[in-house]
Amino acid sequence: MTDPAAPSTTAASRPMFRLDNEQLAFRFTATLSDRHGTPVERLPDPGRLDDWLAANDIAVGSEHATPADLDLAQRLREAIHRIGTAIAHDEPTTETDRAVLNRLLRDEQLCPELTETGLRWQPITGHHVRGALSRIAHDAVTLLGGPQRGQVKACQNPDCRGLYVDTSQGQNRRWCSMNICGNRAKKARFRGPRTTVGNN
Ligand SMILES: [Zn+2]
Repeated sequence: MTDPAAPSTTAASRPMFRLDNEQLAFRFTATLSDRHGTPVERLPDPGRLDDWLAANDIAVGSEHATPADLDLAQRLREAIHRIGTAIAHDEPTTETDRAVLNRLLRDEQLCPELTETGLRWQPITGHHVRGALSRIAHDAVTLLGGPQRGQVKACQNPDCRGLYVDTSQGQNRRWCSMNICGNRAKKARFRGPRTTVGNN
């Protein structure tokens, strides 16, 4: 694999991926960033879904994503984001969103295989792109229903609200990424007194 975040050669002008989140499911939700500000869609077409799956080592076989796959991927992504946001704020999740994940899990089509260098995902049968999406759904369910559920948080940048798992000792991490939202906040504080009054 070359540079995993690089856009494909046919899509040089498309937004780069954010691959800094440690959780596969939350890296996937970050393909739509700044949901509450000026949203940036990083999966604008099926080709970029292929690129994202390859960049995250879950592209299997030579099959390409279709527009229907992209539609399913975006529905899965938003369901994960809504469920994660609800959990982060101690609010109830909806049956409709949970069903998007659970339905995909029922036809999971990838299985793990131990190789000399680590783990790789292999297709069992059927549609490989859908299999990759079911892998993301699996990660989301393990994360949102497992022991890390209580550590799921939403970024405090009001434009971002990106999801992450807070593994800090004091449970006081505020940003999805120190490099992105942490720095934005720092710059805003730095500029604040010059342009506004009473800003924090
Ligand atoms: Zn953020």
